[in-house]
Amino acid sequence: MSNGRKPYRIAVIAGDGIGKEVVPEGLRVLEMAAKKHGVAVHFDQFDFASWDYYEKHGEMMPEDWKEKIGKHDAIYFGAVGWPAKIPDHISLWGSLIKFRREFDQYVNLRPVRLMPGVPSPLANRKPGDIDFWVVRENTEGEYSSVGGRMFPGTEREFVIQETIMTRTGVDRILKFAFDLAQSRPKKHLTSATKSNGISITMPYWDERVEAMAKAYPKVKWDKYHIDILTANFVLHPDWFDVVVGSNLFGDILSDLGPACTGTIGIAPSGNINPEGNFPSVFEPVHGSAPDIAGQGIANPIGMIWSGAMMLEHLGEKPAAAAIVTAIERTLGERTLRTRDLGGNADTTACGKAVAEMVE
Ligand code: ATP
Ligand code: MG
Repeated sequence: MSNGRKPYRIAVIAGDGIGKEVVPEGLRVLEMAAKKHGVAVHFDQFDFASWDYYEKHGEMMPEDWKEKIGKHDAIYFGAVGWPAKIPDHISLWGSLIKFRREFDQYVNLRPVRLMPGVPSPLANRKPGDIDFWVVRENTEGEYSSVGGRMFPGTEREFVIQETIMTRTGVDRILKFAFDLAQSRPKKHLTSATKSNGISITMPYWDERVEAMAKAYPKVKWDKYHIDILTANFVLHPDWFDVVVGSNLFGDILSDLGPACTGTIGIAPSGNINPEGNFPSVFEPVHGSAPDIAGQGIANPIGMIWSGAMMLEHLGEKPAAAAIVTAIERTLGERTLRTRDLGGNADTTACGKAVAEMVE
């Protein structure tokens, strides 16, 4: 079954709510793709980073969580959070945000791709028209907690919050984005900026883009101010191939992009440490969805597609591509889609359909 290489070791964390329902479908498809394409994979399941674990132990993760999952090749993550029982600042900051920081996952990556059978809020678009990636800087920029409030409650009250851009931080996200653009047929990169309004950090960002572009002569690149860029996501999504943005701009674009192509139930994401010094996390964009948890009706496609991104990250391109094709074919058949997409398949039936298509 394998090419003699040591199996990839994947840490699996199902987490909360529908995470527990979609992860088994994701694993079903991953196992099938691995078998068909001669990829050896070993899965280790962990019960932490969940409300159940918190209820028993009073914390989201064990103290030695880094020893437990830090040596794995990747982390396959369902969803965490149950706001009615535990505030997000405990559940999220006690798990995913820790991974992001401690494992230096400085890239957040999301595809924007119009799939068959998924109604897009954009009129007159068909599958194939929209197919690009949003690359978000994930560790610095606008989301620093540097700043403060002076004279609170008085007329003189003021607040300051700083943006931090380091050369290392900016260059490494740009390098990832240019590499990705170079690997794609269109070889086109778009940078999100706002140097006409944010007069110090954004011109610096632009300067680094220009410097990085010199190392990628085959990549065509352009830049747009964030205001017109968001408009163009809606008006001209076909213009884009790889779009890179700072933490704040990337955050906005990585929600807007997938929203333009349909339901939250199918969108995947990666929080990536490209060098592989630490494991990267692959998880659906959706959360634990308490309103539908336990009913077996959640759409497993976001989880399954995240598995394809994980294989791609590990360098297993044929297996990854097989999953994406199987997703497209499954979504193309109404009876195989879940209810959020107008079908009547349950979570398991949809997952099995994708696995069969892979086979
Ligand atoms: P979080 O804060 O954890 O990111 P959220 O509470 O903002 O999550 P979700 O948990 O993603 O949002 O749910 C938002 C809505 O989308 C809910 O009504 C939920 O039922 C629906 N939803 C989310 N994921 C799926 C899915 N996989 N299949 C079907 N519906 C989904
Ligand atoms: Mg929520």
